Amino acid sequence: MEKQFGKFGGQYVPQEIVKELNGLEVAFNEAINDPSFMEEYRYYLKQFVGRPSPLYYAERLTKELGGAKIYLKREDLNHTGAHKINNTVGQILLAKRMGKKKVIAETGAGQHGVATATSAALFGMECEIFQGQIDMDRQRLNVFRMEMLGAKVTSVDSGTKTLADAVDYAIGKWVERIDDTFYLLGSAVGPHPYPTIVKYFQKIIGEEAIKQIQQQENCLPDYLIACVGGGSNAIGLFTEFLPHKEVKMIGVEAAGKGLDTKDHAATLTLGKEGVIHGMNTKVIMDEDGNISPVYSISAGLDYPGVGPEHAHLQDIKRVTYEAITDKEAVSAFLKLSKTEGIIPAIESSHAIAYTIKLAPTLDKDKIIIVNLSGRGDKDVESIKKYLTVE
Ligand SMILES: *Cc1c(COP(=O)(O)O)cnc(C)c1O
Repeated sequence: MEKQFGKFGGQYVPQEIVKELNGLEVAFNEAINDPSFMEEYRYYLKQFVGRPSPLYYAERLTKELGGAKIYLKREDLNHTGAHKINNTVGQILLAKRMGKKKVIAETGAGQHGVATATSAALFGMECEIFQGQIDMDRQRLNVFRMEMLGAKVTSVDSGTKTLADAVDYAIGKWVERIDDTFYLLGSAVGPHPYPTIVKYFQKIIGEEAIKQIQQQENCLPDYLIACVGGGSNAIGLFTEFLPHKEVKMIGVEAAGKGLDTKDHAATLTLGKEGVIHGMNTKVIMDEDGNISPVYSISAGLDYPGVGPEHAHLQDIKRVTYEAITDKEAVSAFLKLSKTEGIIPAIESSHAIAYTIKLAPTLDKDKIIIVNLSGRGDKDVESIKKYLTVE
């Protein structure tokens, strides 16, 4: 297995961790080549997560925009309301297979923490989640959810007290307990083999979508569009389509308050090559090479790095990356809610916002698949607040 995607990826971690990562890679390769493991993974995706998720033709949105046909891949209908559960179920089965008794994970807004706590409860594993103090205050409801699911939530008070520091802290704790503890990473980021493992457990999204579009339209789509935080829902949709050169792909990052301000999280648009969380990738940093604080209305896109495979796909020009502001995302959030009766996650609303710009410029026989990575119930309060302040 390649440790790199072009010049991106790798393992920029202490020696003790490299040893564990090598063991993890071996265990992962054995697992995915073991039919009984894959059968169990597919069983829980079907019976617990509720897959396959529908590929839904957004007829009213399409008509209103007057251009390309828009299909939504409904990851919002999964148990726990987003794509993250595909990965946590896969990794928890791997942890169990490796004989680990405990799982730890980082979380920002708490979405990955909730998905991890859910999967840990499913298999009776001890679970500890590390979350920045500021994020814990901002996301009380998710803290209660994790606790109700039986997880311990530990606050991280270092640095910016948000996601980037929670990751560093969790990696530090992992080193101390490496023998019996599995680190369950939440996006297609981190040192090898994590980006590959997360991609593997998320690529079900594209595997289903390619079959569904062929059944419904008898052809491949012209465009795929997905939002990019760390990049797991995007790589999950893209992977199966990558060999089909005629399918164009667009990843959508958070432009926050604007690309001309400091308040954004547009890593691939404005970042530079650098190392963060054990990988070489694109990073948002200042003139001295320090990681800069990032901002987005969407907690799930608020990350100063990005998955190394996306940095590579941008480098080789296979995927294009665009950025959408808070304002555009909120307007797309309201638009999809009103035209389709689907309240999207504010993260997914970034992908919808770009679709709203692109679709009217395309002919009516073109097809766009948008990954609706999650549902927006968690966001209604902050959208309401945003609209009141505006
Ligand atoms: C966490 C999250 C994201 C961003 O993470 P990726 O790894 O980039 O997919 C996007 N959408 C939703 C709904 C999320 O919860």
